[in-house]
Amino acid sequence: MPKYVYFFGKGEGEGDASMKDLLGGKGANLAQMAKMGFPVPPGFTISTEVCTYFYQNGQNYPKELKAQVEEALKGVEKERGSVFGDKENPLLFSVRSGARISMPGMMNTVLNLGLNDDITEKLAESNARFAWNSYWRFIFMFADVVMALPKEELDEALEGVKKEKGYKLDVELLAEDWKEAAQRLKNKVSVLAGREIPQDPHIQLWEAVGAVFKSWNTPRAITYRRLNRIPEEWGTAVNVQSMAFGNINDQSASGVGFTRNPSTGDKNLYGEFLPNAQGEDVVAGIRTPQPISELEKTFPECYSQLLEISKKLEEYFKDMQDIEFTIENGKLWMLQTRTGKRTAQAAVRIALDMVEEKRIDKKEALLRIDPKSVESFFRPSFDPKAAKKVIAKGLPASPGAAVGEAVFDSDEAVRLMEEGRKVILVRMETSPDDIHGIDAAQGVLTSRGGYTSHAALVTRGMGKPGIVGCETIFVDHKKEQFEADGIVVKKGDKISIDGTSGEVLLGEVPTLEAAVSGDLGKIMEWADEERALRVFANADTPAQAKQSKDFGAEGIGLCRTEHMFFEESRIEIFQEMILAKDKEARESALAEILPLQKSDFIEIFKAMEGRPVIIRLLDPPLHEFLPKEEGDIKSLAQKIGVSEEELKSQAESLKELNPMLGHRGVRLAIVYPEIYQMQARAIMEAVCELAKEGVKVSPEIMIPLVVSLEEFNIIKDLIEDVCREVKDSYQVNPEYKIGTMIETPRAALLAGKIATAAEFFSFGTNDLTQTTLGISRDDAGRFLPKYLEKKIFKDDPFLSLDQEGVGSLIKVGVRAGREANKDIQVGICGEHGGDPETIEFCHKIELDYVSCSPFRIPVARLAAAQAKIKSKIN
Ligand code: PEP
Ligand code: MG
Repeated sequence: MPKYVYFFGKGEGEGDASMKDLLGGKGANLAQMAKMGFPVPPGFTISTEVCTYFYQNGQNYPKELKAQVEEALKGVEKERGSVFGDKENPLLFSVRSGARISMPGMMNTVLNLGLNDDITEKLAESNARFAWNSYWRFIFMFADVVMALPKEELDEALEGVKKEKGYKLDVELLAEDWKEAAQRLKNKVSVLAGREIPQDPHIQLWEAVGAVFKSWNTPRAITYRRLNRIPEEWGTAVNVQSMAFGNINDQSASGVGFTRNPSTGDKNLYGEFLPNAQGEDVVAGIRTPQPISELEKTFPECYSQLLEISKKLEEYFKDMQDIEFTIENGKLWMLQTRTGKRTAQAAVRIALDMVEEKRIDKKEALLRIDPKSVESFFRPSFDPKAAKKVIAKGLPASPGAAVGEAVFDSDEAVRLMEEGRKVILVRMETSPDDIHGIDAAQGVLTSRGGYTSHAALVTRGMGKPGIVGCETIFVDHKKEQFEADGIVVKKGDKISIDGTSGEVLLGEVPTLEAAVSGDLGKIMEWADEERALRVFANADTPAQAKQSKDFGAEGIGLCRTEHMFFEESRIEIFQEMILAKDKEARESALAEILPLQKSDFIEIFKAMEGRPVIIRLLDPPLHEFLPKEEGDIKSLAQKIGVSEEELKSQAESLKELNPMLGHRGVRLAIVYPEIYQMQARAIMEAVCELAKEGVKVSPEIMIPLVVSLEEFNIIKDLIEDVCREVKDSYQVNPEYKIGTMIETPRAALLAGKIATAAEFFSFGTNDLTQTTLGISRDDAGRFLPKYLEKKIFKDDPFLSLDQEGVGSLIKVGVRAGREANKDIQVGICGEHGGDPETIEFCHKIELDYVSCSPFRIPVARLAAAQAKIKSKIN
């Protein structure tokens, strides 16, 4: 008989930590903790297979499920010595979701399930406030989660009582007030839902279980899965666990914690708790909790037990854990353990410490760090020398510096972001409904909540600066403003937030860039020892070259020479060259360009200290460089000495219907050879001058958008002629290479032929994706989102390589190229070069290098090491 339900209780668990696929992370770890003998309230987990069955069978359950649940219920009753639905001695449950990996705040929870009018009345005889408060909570959660009634309307019942009594805080409510609130809420529910809250606990249970399964497919869960690439077919498990009450009296509390600091990685138990409260209160951020260290004073025994358990959990899981606990009348209960989310900084610190503690080896340490998160090390920090006006200080929940316009609504944050504006989302607190706003914002500031509030967890997860619990700011969502220290900050006003210190600053504070050093430097050293792929940079200017070398680039894989003209002072010379009406005019513009390029090349070569520098000859999509504004046209016309009309008509004649597939790349030089001749000269003069000074350089000249050997050879001859001439005139003989980009399917298919003449290949996967998929790089944004939504593509093919399609062509090209020329160097230099999944692919097909933007060099170094380690494991 198939098994769908797994029991856990004192000293036993039918499951264990290895069964996450089946029991979800939460269920598997509860079973594990029970097995390890920790105090876990007994309960059972309904497996993810039931979720899959549920969706495949018109939202029905397998027939065996009911009996298995009944049996598990009996087991819990036996252990707790109480009975589900019994008036004298009631057993109450929490019902929660639990997917394979945790999805904070995404799925729904019902607490105190099993209460009804009669049971509550009876319970109230011994502890009235607790009974009615618990009942109110149950009704609220059941109405919200199971019946999907609007929270704002449900809130009115309690708010009404508070208003009439003149209370500000929930703690002021007396037993009879909670009773009144519960009654009103019940009435409200029957009006809104057109039915009563079920009184039969078994019906409550099955409805709650169904609601958990259904919540797997709510829009916010779907968004979270999409953002975090969690497959839909995983499904969720349901955990039904007997209640431990943190709100029974002052000898009770609820708390959450981390076995190490999730922000810095420091080795101490870290977290917070709320006396006389249920767990949800701590995470919801409604009351600001106390630091966990305070437990030592109020609950010393529980505190030392918690320290002991944390230690054992870390020993077992060999990683930092995120725990939830409840103290019920002085007794500690463990409600959850899972691998804790952490900042990139903490991930690195913890991985290093765990190697030192001999819990894991270096390879495991490298695998522990998400390569993408490494980018956040280079999130800027505020310039310490800059003038700052601190207007408030909150809890530093997620490090880094962010600057933007204050905005108070998530939809508005998205709207402004789409206009290209930078925003800071300011809210009293955030909820899962704000995911899109947080995603759109540079950073988040909330006035309520602790380190484990929703805003804190989500910003940390997304690697964005976040400040929470900033209680000295008064947020007014209606007026779209907040007040701090007597200053009113309105929507659109610029603020800066420092997620490292917790400071909220007025205005725009200048930021500083970061470098690879300290902890990350060590990880990078280990990654470099491990990886096979070399990591090059896409760097176009001397400043970028220096920066990429500092980040560990072993060379430059792509120097886009047209980008050297992006600066305002240079663009006109470039336009003059493009718009020249004859060879003579073009040559005069080229003569102006030559010294600029040459001096840049000299600086780049020097910065790279003998490492390979691959210079890509001009490949300007012409339309990007043509003057558009009237003012620009006027000034350019004056400079070249032609009329505006003439210039416009010349620009008009250069317009192409399909510029991305038009007169670009090598085609430019086939028609106007003088352009590449000038560039070859600038490169070789720079090389020769440095050679004369004894500076070591390794230049490689790369021809873009090639489709045939014939085309390549014409240009190669042209370059060689110039280089020979320059070398003769300088009387030196430095070495250099000539190679090509592979950016079209034809080039990939004919790579064997091209490799007979080319000394290296670099796959330009931006264009190769464009030309293979027939999707314009510039226009994809219009329809790609639908392709992702409809799952036609798993990822944006311009960000993460389409391994099946484009990847196949690359494999063909690499194989043919190496067969024809065994010494050929092969790499990739499109945007994909910094994407960890693509890097893994590049490792598998044994490319020599990947090249990516400077800030992603450390990401690529780590991803390349992980690819090698994983390939040995698999
Ligand atoms: C490419 O096409 O992948 C590439 C690196 O060149 P560009 O993006 O400049 O076209
Ligand atoms: Mg290209």
